[in-house]
Amino acid sequence: MAKYAFRDEQRKEIIYSNEAVKEDRNTAFYCPNADCNAQLYICAIDGSKAAYFRATKPQHPHIPNCLYGTRSIEFDENQFDESRFDYDKAMESLFGLTDTAIASNKSGEHSIGEPQKHPPRTIRQMYSMCKSLPVKSKYGNKEIGEMLLDDRSEYRYPKGCFGNRIIEATVKKRFYDSEKKQIYLTAPVTSKKYSFVLDFSDNDTYKFIRNEIFNNSDKIIIVGGKWKPTDKYNYFISSVNGRKQVAIIKCFGSLT
Ligand SMILES: [Zn+2]
Repeated sequence: MAKYAFRDEQRKEIIYSNEAVKEDRNTAFYCPNADCNAQLYICAIDGSKAAYFRATKPQHPHIPNCLYGTRSIEFDENQFDESRFDYDKAMESLFGLTDTAIASNKSGEHSIGEPQKHPPRTIRQMYSMCKSLPVKSKYGNKEIGEMLLDDRSEYRYPKGCFGNRIIEATVKKRFYDSEKKQIYLTAPVTSKKYSFVLDFSDNDTYKFIRNEIFNNSDKIIIVGGKWKPTDKYNYFISSVNGRKQVAIIKCFGSLT
């Protein structure tokens, strides 16, 4: 499910799904994933503003594990309130440092009529939002590449990954140390340029996440952290206070 695609194979000219609906339905576009040679066509559900790109021709499908060929990064912007999105606040809420999520839930209880839209706030919602938009575009006045470190935004991180960032990672060979209560990941997925240390204080949280990752060690793991450099070159560390900071992305619901 892609909300944007490229007109050219060199992936220079971005086209958004809402622009493409005005064009010929038989025009083929290129997948946002530069490694994927799928040809995409615009699809729109009648009477809905939600248009998206799909690989509808069986001879030009997404490659296996292309996230844009699955429902795992589906993001329907109509269900969220972009105007109230504050990235740093949302991240701090993931760390358990603020109670914005609880506060906004409570205020929702008193509203009458339609349920209030809220900004993206879980790690999955923020990740899907970031993946559904090009890295140079903005959501809630914040550039996508500034929120998420992935293959596409790597060029923005020449010296490392610092501060509040979501990382799209995979496991390192030796991926945990139970004595230190740490988990080791690497990102971005293709270059594996940087190493990341997830530092747990709570043993139950550590064990739960370690087991989840152990059972999904071939999958993409996303982590919202407040990253700091370590003594080791290209290693960055963040504390993980709760399960909300980590999610595993499974390529389910293939659309091709
Ligand atoms: Zn693809």
